[in-house]
Amino acid sequence: LKERVQINKQRDEMTELGIMFNELMDNLEQSFHQQQQFAEDASHELKTPLSIIHGHLSLIHRWGKDNPKVLERSIYLSLNETNRLIHLVSELLTLSRVEESTINQSLLEEVNLKDSLLDIIENFQTVNNDFEISSTMDIDTEFTLKILKSHLEQIMIILLDNAIKYSTNEKVIQINVKHTNKQLTIEVKDFGVGIPKEELPFVRNRFYRVDKARSRKHGGNGLGLSIATRLLDIYRGTIEVDSVYGKWTKVQISFPLD
Ligand code: ADP
Repeated sequence: LKERVQINKQRDEMTELGIMFNELMDNLEQSFHQQQQFAEDASHELKTPLSIIHGHLSLIHRWGKDNPKVLERSIYLSLNETNRLIHLVSELLTLSRVEESTINQSLLEEVNLKDSLLDIIENFQTVNNDFEISSTMDIDTEFTLKILKSHLEQIMIILLDNAIKYSTNEKVIQINVKHTNKQLTIEVKDFGVGIPKEELPFVRNRFYRVDKARSRKHGGNGLGLSIATRLLDIYRGTIEVDSVYGKWTKVQISFPLD
């Protein structure tokens, strides 16, 4: 990976080829380092729940027979951590599948956007009946988006899940859909904890959590927004996060319509 071609000042064909080769090697090296970083980060994330389970098994081994309270509590907490592990592994698998996926155009569906979003919102409202989830959709009832329906659902679930997880007393979520000739945007706004300005550029990075304790409490692994970003990449879509700390957070996704 360290091999590079010496570039002459003359711009002949061989030099161009050399430049191309060097660029290719730079990209390879970068992607190799990214993979290495990912493996390190993932191992670190897997290690935390495993260490906790190990700690509880040691407690059970030492005191479990004589102390039913220790036994019960340690089993309960170990079960929590195994659930966390299952969730983490399933998010890691999703991420690796999404990274690999190039979309087969023939699989794309013309998805009716209004119907699909209303279904997703209704499901969320049913499960979170203490929330007020409202929507304004400036689109025709016939409006369709060329996408895999499961991808649209996955992205919306990530955004709505976060809006709910990071809400405080004001349990209000607003969804706003609009489009121009060029692009469609879906915005999800909540009035919860918010994100400090200086952290905004990082929230889409893998494993990034603003408040580790809070995120962990709600089962967050810092992977949701990076999965959503990769899914949007497939459609040349983008994701933007804006927030006023302690007041609101707005996540806007956009799809090009050409
Ligand atoms: P997680 O599974 O931890 O929620 P995400 O990748 O979805 O991971 O989000 C990364 C981090 O960004 C979260 O841990 C949280 O700190 C912050 N975040 C995301 N969405 C919101 C939101 N709606 N309100 C406040 N903070 C948010």
